[in-house]
Amino acid sequence: MVEQTRLINAQFNSNTYILSMEDEVSVWLVDPGDAQPVFDWIRQNNKKDLKGILLTHTHFDHIYGVNELLEKYPECLIYVANEYGKEGLTNIKQNGSKYTGNPIVIEKHANIRFFEHKMNLWPNVELSSLITPGHSDDSICFMIENLLFTGDTLIKGLRTVTKIRGGSVEKLTDSIQHFKQWQGLGYLVCPGHGEEFDLDKYDLGRAINGSNTKSSL
Ligand SMILES: [Zn+2]
Repeated sequence: MVEQTRLINAQFNSNTYILSMEDEVSVWLVDPGDAQPVFDWIRQNNKKDLKGILLTHTHFDHIYGVNELLEKYPECLIYVANEYGKEGLTNIKQNGSKYTGNPIVIEKHANIRFFEHKMNLWPNVELSSLITPGHSDDSICFMIENLLFTGDTLIKGLRTVTKIRGGSVEKLTDSIQHFKQWQGLGYLVCPGHGEEFDLDKYDLGRAINGSNTKSSL
C-alpha cells in the first residue's frame, strides 16, 4: 500500500507529498517545495533513492524545490503533463516566479518526461493520469490506489483560481465533470494547498462558484 506524507512548504503553504511503500527503498515526490524536510524524511525513514518527481502543474510554488533535489538526485525523472508543462519549467512568466523576486528556471540537464495515461511507480503500483486544464494548461490529476492528486485544480473549500495566465473557467468546468464521475469510489483528494479530503461527498460546485479564492496560485 502506498503511503503519502504531506509536507507544508514555506512559500504560499503549498503541499509537497512524499510517496513511499514499506518494502521499497525508493520514493516519489509530488510538487517539491522546501527540499531540506524531504532530505530529512528520506534519511529518517531509511529510504535511499528518489525515483522521480510528479508535477501537478508548473507554477513556481509547486516546483521551487526541483533544482535542489536534482543536485542530490541528478538521475531522477521529472514528469509534466504536456508541452505547456515543459515550457513552465524554464519560462519565468509562465511559472509565475518572475513576480516573486526569486526566478525559478529548472536545470537543463533534467530528465523531463510526459505523464503516460497509465504508468508504474513501483512493481504492481500503477498511476493513472488525466490532463485537467482550467487552473493552467498543464494541470494534471493522477490517481494512485485510493489517492487522487489534484494540484490547484481542486482545493478543499476554495474556488479554483482561473484568472491567471493559462487559466480558463470554461476548461475548468469541463475538467470538473471528470471528478463527478470519480465520486462514490472512495478517493482521498490530496490537493496542492490545504488538507486532504474525501471526494465522495464533496460539493464540486465550489470549485466553480465558491466565493473564497485566497492563496491558491
Ligand atoms: Zn497553481
